[in-house]
Amino acid sequence: MEIVRTPAGLTAAVEAMRRAGARVAFVPTMGALHAGHLALVAEGLARADAVVASIFVNPRQFGPGEDLARYPRDEAGDAAKLEAAGCTLLYAPDVAAMYPPGFSSFVRVDGLPDVLCGAVRPGHFDGVATVVTKLLAAARADVAIFGEKDWQQLAIVKRMAADLDLGTEIVGAPIVRDSDGLALSSRNLYLAPEDRARALALPRALAEAQGRLRAGGGVAEVLAQGALALATAGFARVDYFELVDGETLATLDAVQPGARLMAAGVVGTTRLIDNLGL
Ligand code: AMP
Repeated sequence: MEIVRTPAGLTAAVEAMRRAGARVAFVPTMGALHAGHLALVAEGLARADAVVASIFVNPRQFGPGEDLARYPRDEAGDAAKLEAAGCTLLYAPDVAAMYPPGFSSFVRVDGLPDVLCGAVRPGHFDGVATVVTKLLAAARADVAIFGEKDWQQLAIVKRMAADLDLGTEIVGAPIVRDSDGLALSSRNLYLAPEDRARALALPRALAEAQGRLRAGGGVAEVLAQGALALATAGFARVDYFELVDGETLATLDAVQPGARLMAAGVVGTTRLIDNLGL
């Protein structure tokens, strides 16, 4: 598997693949790869002839006091996993290649970044929108695959790619979970064993809320029960437990097609997110 480290190198490599007739899928990541990331590669292979992945821990999407410095990094291990999964090319730029001196642009989507995780992490989704725009603009792939695990991010990227005519189709791939139900996340590596056990309350509370809503339970009551279940299980903080429209992220007070349960909270020192369709 070839590794390129500059935007121009990425553009040239993908252009060569497409000139040779290949349809190209792109899978952006921050590394510390697990089966959830590799499922995105598999989805890419199902939709294209070749998959290009990127690994870049984007400083602009971390707030002050967040985990940028301790974010897990293992490029050699990640590269081996990507190659085994059938990836053709890895884009692994350093910070200076992405944000050279003088860099002064950013991309901001209106509205969607202000709610849910964006309300708790101000500026986070501006950093995401900026880096994803740069990655998609340099890759110029046919399709890019993002995980439904980060549902709000997926909604923002879809909006942005359509608004800015980025020319890459944005596709969501289902959440990959551990056998006990916890959504795979690079940040699960931070969890001490007792916190890993507490964290299970997140998928359980979502599944219970889904069951109650399907059985006709009142939305406000079901959401309050969900948030309480997390607090009772020992979450240090519950950021939100909400029912939203999956596309606009507007809060809903009744179940409707496309509705999504969204939850986030902190266990120990680790912030976890999860979501479930209805
Ligand atoms: P990250 O490396 O955490 O920035 O994630 C890179 C991509 O992998 C994003 O599109 C995530 O939504 C996706 N992803 C992360 N965890 C999972 C998971 N458990 N299932 C599916 N996709 C995931």
